[in-house]
Amino acid sequence: MLMSNTPSLENYWMPFTANRQFKAAPRLLAAAKGMYYTDVDGAQVLDGTAGLWCVNAGHGRQKIADAVARQLMTMDYAPSFQMGHPIVFDFAQKLAARAPGGQEAGLTKVFFTGSGSESVDTALKIAIAYQRSIGQGTRTRVIGRERGYHGVGFGGISVGGLVNNRRVFPLLPGVDHLRHTHDAVRNSFVKGLPEHGGDLAEDLERLVALHGAETIAAVIVEPVAGSTGVLLPPKGYLERLRAISKKHGILLIFDEVITGFGRLGTPFAVDYFGVVPDLVTTAKGLTNGALPMGAVFASEAVYEAMMNGPESQIELFHGYTYSGHPAACAAGLATLEVYEEEGLLTRAADVADHWQDAMHGLKGLPNIVDIRTIGLVAGIELSSRPDAAGARGYDIFVDCFNKGLLVRVTGDTIALSPPLIVEREQIDIMASMLGEAIKRAA
Ligand code: PLP
Repeated sequence: MLMSNTPSLENYWMPFTANRQFKAAPRLLAAAKGMYYTDVDGAQVLDGTAGLWCVNAGHGRQKIADAVARQLMTMDYAPSFQMGHPIVFDFAQKLAARAPGGQEAGLTKVFFTGSGSESVDTALKIAIAYQRSIGQGTRTRVIGRERGYHGVGFGGISVGGLVNNRRVFPLLPGVDHLRHTHDAVRNSFVKGLPEHGGDLAEDLERLVALHGAETIAAVIVEPVAGSTGVLLPPKGYLERLRAISKKHGILLIFDEVITGFGRLGTPFAVDYFGVVPDLVTTAKGLTNGALPMGAVFASEAVYEAMMNGPESQIELFHGYTYSGHPAACAAGLATLEVYEEEGLLTRAADVADHWQDAMHGLKGLPNIVDIRTIGLVAGIELSSRPDAAGARGYDIFVDCFNKGLLVRVTGDTIALSPPLIVEREQIDIMASMLGEAIKRAA
């Protein structure tokens, strides 16, 4: 039955949605402030997912809205090819000042995109172009990892490891995958990083032996995989991956679309793990989700190597109409200010213990097979109903929403990633509402 405030649902082809199922029983959000959405019928919904992992400073931030409005009336748009505008240089400089890993990591060159998917495809292209520019033109292969999610561009689905994103579409040639690191048996219910599986980084050696290092441009991983069920890197894994990739002249790309901008309790996962890649992809929290935008942080070494031809030559034949969009830059600059004024890039660290205790407190409820937390992220994995993978997760998602809590599901794993302003009492409410829904879905 359609709700009173429901518009016609006919024409909008919804992304990553079972359109017919949704349109038969829609869930429509109408407003958002702080930690809460309001649906079209006026019900409050506690945001357990920061929208889609992006509204890190909470909803309806005046400062961001004002900055965007001002910019739109000052200059709404400017071309980004062979032209610039001050605000995009300013934003790049401010980002570089807070770059992943600090100044010594050297990830201070910023390429703007319109989304996480575009950031991923951009990083893959930069990696291949870089290899060519240093005389390594045979390195065109890119390596991803099973159970990785890198958006939906053809590059991203090729290096990604989600079967449903891949089976219908043709993929980039020459791509291969590391084994995933999820060891549900040996690491279940572990608090902190998994003990087992650091040695899986050696899988890169296997791919080097199989394909030859001289064919491989880059390897891309999420430091913490979010969309495929919150998978934490085993102890030592990222360090080992860094060492092996460096040894073989393979660029390492961290996809920080989810982990960037404070999600783990440090500004970036690079800071959390102390492992420095060559390229970092970001989006989402970059503008607090207020406007679409992504950014790739590249090392100075990568950038400088590309600046070697005649000065009149375009060094990287790549870019988007909306690269460095003025209004998105304004949103991003204001977002950085909010993050800094409120200490949000490290706030998750202050509440991480409370978060971990609240989530692990669900252990023992029906069908829970694992609980994983880091920073302000949690994955609660449930066993699947016989012959109905994902059905239990979906039921819990709908039930939570109807009771006033927004969670995310991938398969039968519930993922939580609230805005970084979340209060301890709200964490407790989330845990208790989710627990009740899990019991009802038993
Ligand atoms: N990379 C990662 C790690 C992501 O989690 C996502 C989205 O969730 C993307 C890339 C794609 O971002 P977008 O949906 O903005 O294209």
